[in-house]
Amino acid sequence: MIVKVKKTAISLVTGDITLQKTDAIVNAANSGLMGGSGVDGAIHRAGGPAILEECKKIVAEQGRLPAGKAVITSGGNLAARYVIHTVGPVWRGGNDNEAEILASAYLESLRLAEKRNLTCISFPSISTGAYGYPLKAAAAVAVAAVVKFAEEEAVSIKEIVFVLFGEVAYSEYARALEKISQQRYF
Ligand code: ADP
Repeated sequence: MIVKVKKTAISLVTGDITLQKTDAIVNAANSGLMGGSGVDGAIHRAGGPAILEECKKIVAEQGRLPAGKAVITSGGNLAARYVIHTVGPVWRGGNDNEAEILASAYLESLRLAEKRNLTCISFPSISTGAYGYPLKAAAAVAVAAVVKFAEEEAVSIKEIVFVLFGEVAYSEYARALEKISQQRYF
């Protein structure tokens, strides 16, 4: 599924984000930036040790990465040139600023990509694995954040891809993207 928002194409695919050939892929990291389970583990395994070395340097210089923020490293052995590491919120029931923090994780990642003049970027479904964010709610926040960015801030970014790990995630994101495109005129 592809929706064009101004000059940016927002698309949904199913698959493994480590195989994406976009300029950057986004990692749903944790604050320690030391790798972990889920998509984080998959990216470090596929990308090799250079990414972890850069992450360690970043943490040594600026401390742990707060939820909602993002940093960038090289892509190591990946096809993508860069990995943007962001930290989503842990789901605590929905009254702990989870939606704002999740939106910020997407927006800060996109802003970093813009700073490097990148044209295409891939996202996983941040926070919906180990961090427990309900998929439907996360999809609505993710899609709204990306659409807002495309409408208001995108200059170099021409393609934003959500790489969903399976059909269930794909259909929730498709529903969210359909809903938002019916509500707005791009
Ligand atoms: P978080 O800690 O932010 O919840 P997880 O990695 O546990 O991060 O899960 C985030 C999402 O990434 C989940 O929906 C999970 O199914 C998905 N995921 C796991 N591995 C991959 C992969 N290789 N490519 C794309 N998505 C993945």
